[in-house]
Amino acid sequence: MVKKLIVAKFGGTSVANFNAMNRSADLIVNNSNIRLIVLSASATITNILIALSVVNTNKIYRSSLIGKISDIQNSILNHFDKQNKLHKSIDHMIANIAILAENASKVSSVELKDEIVSYGELMSSMIFVEILRQKRANVDWFDVRNVMKTNNNFGCAKPNINIISEKVKKYLEPLLLKKIIVTQGFIGREDQGRTTTLGRGGSDYTAALLGEALKAKCIEIWTDVPGIYTTDPRLVPTAKRIDEITFKEAAEMASFGAKILHPSTLLPAVRSDIPVFVSSSQKPEAGGTYISNKTKIIPLLRALSLLKKQTLLTFNDLKYNKTKFLANVFNILSNYNLPVDIIISDKSNISLIINNSDTSINEPINNSLLVKLETFCNVTIRENLSLIAVIGNNLTKVNGITKMLFATLEPFNLNMICYGASDHNISFLVQSIDAENIIRILHKNFFE
Ligand code: ASP
Ligand code: MG
Repeated sequence: MVKKLIVAKFGGTSVANFNAMNRSADLIVNNSNIRLIVLSASATITNILIALSVVNTNKIYRSSLIGKISDIQNSILNHFDKQNKLHKSIDHMIANIAILAENASKVSSVELKDEIVSYGELMSSMIFVEILRQKRANVDWFDVRNVMKTNNNFGCAKPNINIISEKVKKYLEPLLLKKIIVTQGFIGREDQGRTTTLGRGGSDYTAALLGEALKAKCIEIWTDVPGIYTTDPRLVPTAKRIDEITFKEAAEMASFGAKILHPSTLLPAVRSDIPVFVSSSQKPEAGGTYISNKTKIIPLLRALSLLKKQTLLTFNDLKYNKTKFLANVFNILSNYNLPVDIIISDKSNISLIINNSDTSINEPINNSLLVKLETFCNVTIRENLSLIAVIGNNLTKVNGITKMLFATLEPFNLNMICYGASDHNISFLVQSIDAENIIRILHKNFFE
């Protein structure tokens, strides 16, 4: 076993170009415990590869996309000696991408798509090895597909934890005793040897899976923000970085719209109790946030989050028995793929909030949905609403908490207050024009 092992994952912006790669590499050479490096593709490369993997693309369009990939990779490669073998390897890979993209233009194939997309991580990891070698690091490249066994659900493949653990012990762990290893996030291999991917943003998941298999002491996620904040710092400049947070609190924040690492991608770390450190590779001196199962301090209030674009649906005058009614409504909503955030009801009225902020649907409550719902009851729709969540701990156990919070919000019209369903949040609906102001007031009163 490698002692005090840190698995460090660098996201797309941390390997976007020569300077970013250098900063990331400096971090590694300055910490001898970082021995396994998991990389994303350089920023934007995955999107370009996805565009190249769809059917019916034409040749000119494909060439322009291939040109973009070459430009991004060459801007890094130009810093290396002309003799370096890396030029040939990357050229060869880009030529392969062009051939595969031409094949993909003729038939739609999920297998082919994963193979094309995997080149992003393959290229960034190869280049990064050379960057580290220039800094005299003792480092090798490792094909993660040799250990990352998945099922054949291309595009969102499921890793097989037991096989991964076995293979990691056999093929990866011994290497780590001798060298720093650079490998790829996001990609894997199924039984028949075909390349798979774990779903967009899957590199965090790779790092967590490898960290778990290696019993790492810590998993570091290097990105472009220095950790998790008490609220969005663009909204409240005095927002404070949270030094330590639990996975549970972070999950609540993410589910209420905070753009932070989603703990479900870190499930192996949660399960194996491995702390995760999130920080910015551009500004490592700014520190970061440790996420773990337990924190030293368990504050009553931890953070505030804001989810815009909420639609409030109210159903009155129910025409059927309520039990059936709920089942019917949820059936319809789920057929339309609508995410329900919060629901409250009494004997004959039901209100629920639909979250439109993340859906690709332009008009979430369309006519055909309304017609179906109106066979049950009267439906009222209110838009231009936002959901605010106060995230914390033991919120249902402390007396006076709601009075304390809501007293400061007297001038505002609050709706759909949800208190009690979870010990970790109190949430409520406000008019969108008031939302940012309310966040500022709450932050000023309870976090500063
Ligand atoms: N490169 C992949 C993506 O952009 C995986 C990752 O970055 O985690 O989705
Ligand atoms: Mg990412």
